[in-house]
Amino acid sequence: MIYKPFKDGIKLSRLGMGNMRLPTQDGMGPIDREKAQEIIDYAIAKGINYFDTAYVYHNGESEKFLGEALKKYPRDSYYLATKYFLLSNPDVKAVFEEQLSRLQTDYIDFYLLHAVGMNPPERYLDKQYGTMDYLLERKKTGQIRYLGFSFHGNPDQLEQSLNAFDWDFVQIQLNYLDWTLQDAKRLYDMLAERKIPVIVMEPVRGGRLASLSPEIDAMLKAAEPNRSVASWAFRWLMRLDNVHVILSGMSTMEQIIDNVNTFENDEPLSDDLNDVLMNAGKMLLKQLHVPCTSCRYCCEECPQGLDIPGLLGIYNEYALTLSPMSLMGLGRMDAGKKPEDCVECGNCMKHCPQAISIPEVMKKLAEAAAKSRR
Ligand code: SF4
Ligand code: SF4
Repeated sequence: MIYKPFKDGIKLSRLGMGNMRLPTQDGMGPIDREKAQEIIDYAIAKGINYFDTAYVYHNGESEKFLGEALKKYPRDSYYLATKYFLLSNPDVKAVFEEQLSRLQTDYIDFYLLHAVGMNPPERYLDKQYGTMDYLLERKKTGQIRYLGFSFHGNPDQLEQSLNAFDWDFVQIQLNYLDWTLQDAKRLYDMLAERKIPVIVMEPVRGGRLASLSPEIDAMLKAAEPNRSVASWAFRWLMRLDNVHVILSGMSTMEQIIDNVNTFENDEPLSDDLNDVLMNAGKMLLKQLHVPCTSCRYCCEECPQGLDIPGLLGIYNEYALTLSPMSLMGLGRMDAGKKPEDCVECGNCMKHCPQAISIPEVMKKLAEAAAKSRR
């Protein structure tokens, strides 16, 4: 395992164990504790020392599981990271105390505000709720060693959050697709300029970058026959100096064995291999991405009054993640305005300068939504 110095003599394993996607019974039930314990034991045996969870993961069961799973190991042999999600309970003190109890510990090494950006930073930072006062106090008592936040927002929100406190670290979604697609480069640069260590989440975009398409996978395999497709994404991240820990939510032994192999040596992608990967990323976007520019020329003559560019945006996100989470926006849409309400009249296509097969995409999106509800 390779390590990177953090602060105060601490060395963090560059591969961190994410505990949001632990193996579950029947693929969606409670955590399969036997299989999950095997993964944790392997992680420890191979030198992973950073374990990330959150109050809300697996409906609160992730923290409880992790507390059980790690209790046989000395507390100073690993670092625990967990998060406070304001919507789960506005009483930060009650949540923090419950987390200590769930995790069977009297301190948390890395404590994060959860999903800042998706939740307005001003709510977390608002004096009247006392969230930060409480957490800074816990830092003084040593119950929190390092304070940071996980971020899902835009550069302005990041700026606002960074200006509010002297943070020890920040966790962002970073991978070679989001580098440009979601402007993750800008977020990374803002943190690097301030010398704030970065913890990476979603390095393989929820698994999407572990298998791209048969054609692109074959191209990567031809360049490096003994490397997995996922290892390319990890070694791309190793090129970034300010990335400290790369979290991976490993749910099978196969995944952790492959990832541990990748992190055996400090081998960032070479410039030549990086060119191959960037080309693969472009090919993937071309294959999957619907090139809608949101001009809305198509909307006027839609008899169903669908928000076509909005729906295509959801489709693009889904195509790149294959995650049911990316379809959540459909649930908030009014009845009669969903992809399944498309009557395939084709009016929209007459006006689309990008020649997008809109009814076809609506059909695929409706199928994905139906599948996610099953
Ligand atoms: S094909 Fe579907 S999306 Fe396009 S105009 Fe007709 S109903 Fe609207
Ligand atoms: S006309 Fe085409 S490019 Fe413009 S919003 Fe509609 S689908 Fe997107």
